[in-house]
Amino acid sequence: MNEHDSERMKGMLESLGYGEADGPDAADLLLFNTCSIREKADTKFVTHLRQAAARKRQRPGVVIGVGGCWAQSVKDQVFADFPFVDVAFGPGQVHKLAEFLTSDAITAQGYFEFEGFTGHLPAKRERAFSGWMQISVGCDMVCSYCIVPSTRGRQVSRPADELLAEAEGLVSDGVREITLLGQNVNAYGRDQGSRAAAGMTFAELLGALDGIEGLDRIRYTSPHPQDFKDDVVRAHAELPSLCPHLHLPLQSGSSTVLKAMRRTYNRERFMDRVALIREHCPDIAITTDIIVGFPGETDADFAETMEVCDEVGFDGAFTFVYSPRRETEAAAMADRFVDRETSGERIAQLVELVQRRAAERAQRFVGRTLDVMVEGPSRTDPSRLRGRTGHNKAVNFDGLASPGEIVPVQITAASSHSLSGELSLLDRAGAAAG
Ligand code: SAH
Ligand code: SF4
Repeated sequence: MNEHDSERMKGMLESLGYGEADGPDAADLLLFNTCSIREKADTKFVTHLRQAAARKRQRPGVVIGVGGCWAQSVKDQVFADFPFVDVAFGPGQVHKLAEFLTSDAITAQGYFEFEGFTGHLPAKRERAFSGWMQISVGCDMVCSYCIVPSTRGRQVSRPADELLAEAEGLVSDGVREITLLGQNVNAYGRDQGSRAAAGMTFAELLGALDGIEGLDRIRYTSPHPQDFKDDVVRAHAELPSLCPHLHLPLQSGSSTVLKAMRRTYNRERFMDRVALIREHCPDIAITTDIIVGFPGETDADFAETMEVCDEVGFDGAFTFVYSPRRETEAAAMADRFVDRETSGERIAQLVELVQRRAAERAQRFVGRTLDVMVEGPSRTDPSRLRGRTGHNKAVNFDGLASPGEIVPVQITAASSHSLSGELSLLDRAGAAAG
């Protein structure tokens, strides 16, 4: 979501005539897009901001802008604590940056309203053939560790007809793969804070997007295990362009911890969702997010997280040590915080298990020929190519193909993070003839 916000900032700046500078010392505008999901991002950012202040002392004409969740979460102090900041805005107020830059404002300005979706800005895509599409802003859940509801506001879904038109526009602009973004995509159209006017459920939206000629791959992130139901499972089983990958955040394998997190599902419900999707789509890749060291997490709770990970066998996972965020419910449970050393040991064990299971799972691809969307040269060996399977696995392979092409690759080796293979000339010729 944050990366997509950056693309929109870039696109908007280009439309105002700005271009990327060679480096911070040559820039007229130093703009930061910030994340606040964990404390580490905050701390790193404040260091960058102090460096920007030093630049401004040398070149007082430089404009310093700060957007995103960090700005939103410190909106009351930002100008007092960082007086050199000229403009600050929350994640829903990217468009106000243009207003500021094109006005003669001589005083610092802050923009922190929640206005619903205001992203009708040209986005500067990192890859020509792959695009993001934000289907909703904000979040109506109240997970006790999470800062997002306070920085991005209540959920507001975008109307389906607007999204379909946007998808068609992206496709006519060369996009073959779209990733739908929302904090709880399954709750699309069911906004609690405002009257929902989406016009479709999430599963119906997937179906309508699948009908767009030229849109070869549809992805989405993130679904919530509470709201992940049969209709989306059916969509995975039936829609050819919906990728065989599900990112289903677990957070913890312990029902006690899940309750304290206010995740609204328990271990059984999560396992039941995994069984349901695997029954209908046995080959689907499942990835997840897990937090260790949530306040009060015992050894027994953590052992349950390990059990669930072992049982499910995720194809990959983002693992995090719990980080207390300001004004969240869990941050007030200081008397139950898990010490650093224990969290450190737990995450090391978890990462080892996740990687081992992911590597085992990846072996099922060896010997198969998979469709790979080419991204460009391999990062580790530029004489090879790199791309992504529908399962969202990175593949390094030998052969010739252009970025954006979808080509058949015969997989010869697999590790927890990536696959290796070679372009299958036979299959490619067959596909061309067919
Ligand atoms: N809406 C998505 C998550 C968005 S945040 C969902 O509910 O799945 C991405 C991930 O960051 C979360 O899934 C969680 O694992 C992690 N995260 C969020 N807040 C955190 C915190 N305070 N400490 C550590 N990890 C956190
Ligand atoms: Fe945060 Fe929970 Fe909303 Fe995800 S669903 S953004 S974790 S509050």
